[in-house]
Amino acid sequence: MLDHCSIFHKGGLVLWSRSFTPTAAQIATSAASPVNSLIRDVLIEGRASETSYEKDGYAIKWSFVNDLELIFVVAYQRILQLTYPDDLLSAMQTLFLKLFQPFLTSFVASLHAASSTVTAVNAVVFDFHKALEGWDKYFDRLLAGYEEMAGKERNSRLRVSLKPGPAAIARESSSESLDNLPTQTSESAPNSAEEITRNVAALRSRMRGRGSVPGGRGKGGKRTVRANGGDSGAGTDSDSSHIPKRKAEKTARKWDDSAITEKDMAELDFSADLSTADLSKFDVQHLIDETSLGTKIDGIYEVKDWDFLSATDDDFISKALSNGTAKPEEKPTSTFSSIFARLTGSKILSEQDLKPVLSAMKDHLMKKNVAKDIADRVCEGVGETLKGKKISGFRGIKKEVQDALATTLTRILTPKTSTDLLLSIRHKLDSAAASTSSAGRVPYSITFVGVNGVGKSTNLSKVCFWLVQNGLRVLIAACDTFRSGAVEQLRVHVRNLSMLSSKDGAATMVELYERGYGKDAAGIARDAITYAKDNGYDVVLIDTAGRMQDNEPLMRALAKLVSTNNPDKIVFVGEALVGNEAVDQLTKFDRSLKDFSTVAGGPGKGRGIDGMLVTKWDTVDDKVGAALSMTYVTGQPILFVGCGQTYTDLRQLKVDNVVKALLSD
Ligand code: GDP
Repeated sequence: MLDHCSIFHKGGLVLWSRSFTPTAAQIATSAASPVNSLIRDVLIEGRASETSYEKDGYAIKWSFVNDLELIFVVAYQRILQLTYPDDLLSAMQTLFLKLFQPFLTSFVASLHAASSTVTAVNAVVFDFHKALEGWDKYFDRLLAGYEEMAGKERNSRLRVSLKPGPAAIARESSSESLDNLPTQTSESAPNSAEEITRNVAALRSRMRGRGSVPGGRGKGGKRTVRANGGDSGAGTDSDSSHIPKRKAEKTARKWDDSAITEKDMAELDFSADLSTADLSKFDVQHLIDETSLGTKIDGIYEVKDWDFLSATDDDFISKALSNGTAKPEEKPTSTFSSIFARLTGSKILSEQDLKPVLSAMKDHLMKKNVAKDIADRVCEGVGETLKGKKISGFRGIKKEVQDALATTLTRILTPKTSTDLLLSIRHKLDSAAASTSSAGRVPYSITFVGVNGVGKSTNLSKVCFWLVQNGLRVLIAACDTFRSGAVEQLRVHVRNLSMLSSKDGAATMVELYERGYGKDAAGIARDAITYAKDNGYDVVLIDTAGRMQDNEPLMRALAKLVSTNNPDKIVFVGEALVGNEAVDQLTKFDRSLKDFSTVAGGPGKGRGIDGMLVTKWDTVDDKVGAALSMTYVTGQPILFVGCGQTYTDLRQLKVDNVVKALLSD
């Protein structure tokens, strides 16, 4: 939900504004108003080319209309991570200009003509209320449309565009066609079913590899998922006993424009109660991608390694040295490579010789999404190892540089602690079983932390799938008691995972421990662990609310959860897409957890991040720099990478493959 929205002239004259919360209304006229902050901190400081900034817990976004000197602004609480403000701004701008262009043109012309101050012009000439009559109604409908769409997106967790959104409608709207604007009334209900149908069609299409997942597919190319009635197929082990075969008689659902059926709706009902649902009517096999299933050897189901296939000799160092045109042996022509051309015979590399190479190296790493500071430090380290080395000829330099960089990258990426989570789990469970203590068998617990929307719940579910394939019984603790829909989302995952693991007469492999919203997450996690212990679960996966790394109260609450429950692993979930931001998030999560959990006391005091799960790996191709940045700042290993939206889209990283991808051109 927005806090504030306004349209003003760059001179500070507010044409229209709206505050949505009492606090925002109070501060709208004060020096702390988002508009005043924007003018003071951004416009006056000449940072007008930016389009967003954050201040006092608010995210403020704006867009300019240069010829009319107007600025459209929205402000909202940063923690909400709204997805629609950019689109809303653009739609508002289009519609506002379309509706009031004549007035706005004369308004700006008058300002220029007037010799008096802007305030005086306002007082004397303009009656904005009258001139912009009707805008409130237009705006309300536009905003309602976006909020409705955001709500649906949250529910369906799909990031696809469904039909022309409010922005497109705004573009096409005229004052006569106000009825085209989306509304939040019940009249939109029939559209919802159709939208849901299209949404699902898009998801299915993506899952079947026909469409593209957000951001495109990785090097692995297209993939197929288990076909109707198909076998478990290649890449699987015949002993994948927990994965039931798809029933042959099932017919493929048609996701087209035909009317949505009751069954379709039931499958989409996020609030479905597992205890009463008829599980047999859900088709969940499409949530497993047979091509990405791991292998089962000696009863241990291992997820696949992420494979980087495209490393070639045509790497960036060769290109940098030859400017991408000449073969290494040929005489290079660029300014950069000519530096090396002069290095004939034998030469001792000096700082001066290395400067341009290290600069090219830094650019290269940053293009691979390595955070700037980390790229700087890596290159400094490589420079140190190369300085004073005696080399000869182009090939010699290339090899030295490449080897030095590869060695540094390998050193950073090589885990300092074990990445064998399964071993660690077995060890804990076995030692408890062997112990004579009356404490009983305490389950292994893993807490997933990170900012909103990075893929915590989705990837927690993938980890759950992997654990279940290894015969472990898992309790998922719904400790995101903050974001509406979070518990329901987990309920759906648990339903799916239960169905994928169900065996006649066998114990339930996956269960959800939930206590609704607004409750103390630390207490729910504690109760979940006790419940798991009493009911023979092996592992507890604790889902936590997404939070921004700078939000101290929420970080304190997370630290309390950690210090109270002392989980066996604290896994930071972060996106592969982010470069510098990844470092900021991770450093602050780690620091805050350590500091605040120490203050909170309890058995888990002083705990920080134990490992990372990097999501959306499928969307970055060879730009895998987040992995380097994350391991560099924490010294902790990357336990898994998430590379898609099925339960089998989880991979382990081999250091060599990451190094190859980072070195590739
Ligand atoms: P949370 O708020 O951190 O729990 O995030 P969610 O688990 O709800 O995921 C947010 C979005 O990211 C959803 O649309 C997921 O389908 C998507 N997502 C999660 N993991 C991956 C991944 O590995 N690859 C891709 N392409 N999308 C993912």
